Amino acid sequence: MSPVEIVLVYQSLLGIYGDRGNAMVLRQRLARRGIDATLTVVEPGDPLPATGAVYLLGGGEDAAQVSAVRALKADGHLFRALDDGAVLFAVCAGYQIVGETFTVGDNDDVIDGLGLLDVTTRRGPERAVGEVLSTWTKPDGTESLITGFENHGGFTYLGINARPLARMEIGIGNAGDGTDGAVQGRVLGIYPHGPILARNPELADHLLELALGRELDPLPDPELDELRRQRITAVRKAGLRR
Ligand code: GLN
Repeated sequence: MSPVEIVLVYQSLLGIYGDRGNAMVLRQRLARRGIDATLTVVEPGDPLPATGAVYLLGGGEDAAQVSAVRALKADGHLFRALDDGAVLFAVCAGYQIVGETFTVGDNDDVIDGLGLLDVTTRRGPERAVGEVLSTWTKPDGTESLITGFENHGGFTYLGINARPLARMEIGIGNAGDGTDGAVQGRVLGIYPHGPILARNPELADHLLELALGRELDPLPDPELDELRRQRITAVRKAGLRR
């Protein structure tokens, strides 16, 4: 069997919030289960592979996300990979650019996104900055908490073809409307950094299970559970003052 390919897209443009950790977490969680995985890091100018199982986009500044969306359109391989069943996980600026449109700059110029998620992003009334806590529902119907931190000026609104990924407990999320992120088929976007998949292993495994088309054995990790417990307690305490 060929290795599971994780593709980390454009770190020079979408790498300033440390979201590359998401790629490492995915590869590591596969390796710990004895599943062969490779990490392909692609920069603008180099073609994306069309063979990836999971593609990852991270956060970045406004100008960088305009460059990223142009380069991804010109490249075209991401669209082909998704047609072939790949999973796309996009964080913050990455989440905004996979949508229909987003705005940048003082004049709020409207930029066309990749059109992979039915969401639009506009500058919000305030910048959303801080620790967040939300809940998502796993495919088996049980709930799991998401911790992370958000830092975005854009507010994101979902169209009818996308559904929210998480329900906010603390933080702004999409647009202060009680939701964060969006899902449409095998494309998932959400705001928090952290990296989010390091802080939320069940979300990481969900992406891997989607990509592999099968359930994975759990990876018990008491130290991680304890760190999560402490983090969630601290966020709830601080969140009351936010
Ligand atoms: N530039 C975008 C915004 O401010 C995304 C920021 C980010 O990726 N953290 O809304």
